[in-house]
Amino acid sequence: MKTLELNTAIDIGFDFDELLRQVHAVGKTVLAVHAAEVDRDARFPKEAFAALRHTKLLSAYVPTEFGGMGLNIVQIGQVCEALGQYCGSSAMIYAMHCIQVACVVHHAQDSSYYRNYLWELVADQRLMASATTEIGTGGDLRSSVCAIEVSGREFKLTKKAPVISYGGTADDIFVTCRRSPESPASDQVQVLVRRGEFTAEPLSTWDTMGFRGTCSSGFTLTAAGDVAQIMPTPFDEILTQTMHPYSHIVWCSLWTGIAADAVNLARSFVRAEARKTPGETPISAIRLAEVDRVLQEMRHNVQSLTREYHELLKQNDPEAFRGFGFSIRTNNLKVTCSQRIVEIVGQALLICGISGYRNDSKFSLARHLRDAYGAALMVNNDRITKLNATMLMVHKEAF
Ligand SMILES: Cc1cc2nc3c(=O)[nH]c(=O)nc-3n(C[C@H](O)[C@H](O)[C@H](O)COP(=O)(O)OP(=O)(O)OC[C@H]3O[C@@H](n4cnc5c(N)ncnc54)[C@H](O)[C@@H]3O)c2cc1C
Repeated sequence: MKTLELNTAIDIGFDFDELLRQVHAVGKTVLAVHAAEVDRDARFPKEAFAALRHTKLLSAYVPTEFGGMGLNIVQIGQVCEALGQYCGSSAMIYAMHCIQVACVVHHAQDSSYYRNYLWELVADQRLMASATTEIGTGGDLRSSVCAIEVSGREFKLTKKAPVISYGGTADDIFVTCRRSPESPASDQVQVLVRRGEFTAEPLSTWDTMGFRGTCSSGFTLTAAGDVAQIMPTPFDEILTQTMHPYSHIVWCSLWTGIAADAVNLARSFVRAEARKTPGETPISAIRLAEVDRVLQEMRHNVQSLTREYHELLKQNDPEAFRGFGFSIRTNNLKVTCSQRIVEIVGQALLICGISGYRNDSKFSLARHLRDAYGAALMVNNDRITKLNATMLMVHKEAF
């Protein structure tokens, strides 16, 4: 097994707190301004991504030696949480992009093709998407129907993908497929296909309850390219060491941001109520104290697992991911956070009452609630819980 190329930089050569202030400024002045329209029209948040590109945030996780910011996973989590407070769809797109960048940073720095790609990503602020879900396998990441066909230096592939977030806008897409037409479903590779080298025939539209701005339509993806675009590390290793923990951490971080914004709206509502009856603590203030406690617990859980992953990465030892304990805790975090976000937004709605229920109120929680329900489906919680049940049965050590 190869060693990991990790991004655990602590000294990033600039003030991270200042960067986070910039992220909040972009959030307030750009993401929040367009969030309602992005949601209503289910359109790509182009203003948000113009601003994030301008701030060079698309290469935040790329190591400084390639011109990136060299942020670590703890810091990326904080950026995702900040963005989540202003527009859930923009934050989700940013998080999904970061997952793909991390796959390259951790697993492909031995490849001259991918080293050049990292330079290009920084210079052009390229946006990366992912096609793992497939018609026939659903949300099972560990099996593919489609297969890559290699002839000389060239590969070609066709994948029927029912969901590719921002597939119509992304510059590049990471596609999982079987290593060859003869390979079993679980012998998978991850391949980068680049705009200009693929065609995406629409399969389905994206008119959903929430995360509408992610524009996660279905496509039949047909691509060709050079074999150097096939990731040098087998997909099962990429999944265990990077895609699985990184996804759940950045998703849970942005869900925390959405939940925090709901609590902030509830706080503003309670303050306005309290001003009407000076000297009295409104009943809604008790509810606010309760929901704030749940938010704190959610944030603490995310930060705790993020730090654990950061420490594992610092060991620079793929063997550290062999045990089931960390995978089980990662899965638990995802399932719990996807439930907490619904609970928190629901409590905030109870506090804001009809003002939160209205679409046309400054306290509206409609978008937060609709986005919140998507969290349990992004790799279905039942699928995750069943996996944990299986791991717990064979896991021998106490943890
Ligand atoms: C906002 C959003 C963005 C997304 N973006 C992308 C993207 O960019 N790229 C991408 O590839 N995918 C993406 N997805 C897809 C996502 O990650 C899941 O793969 C997909 O939602 C699963 O679809 P499903 O619920 O129909 O399928 P399944 O996960 O197959 O679930 C269907 C049903 O079957 C049950 N089920 C199936 N298998 C099992 C099992 N083994 N154990 C227990 N229960 C099981 C589930 O509980 C559920 O009831 C996105 C999803 C969302 C909501």
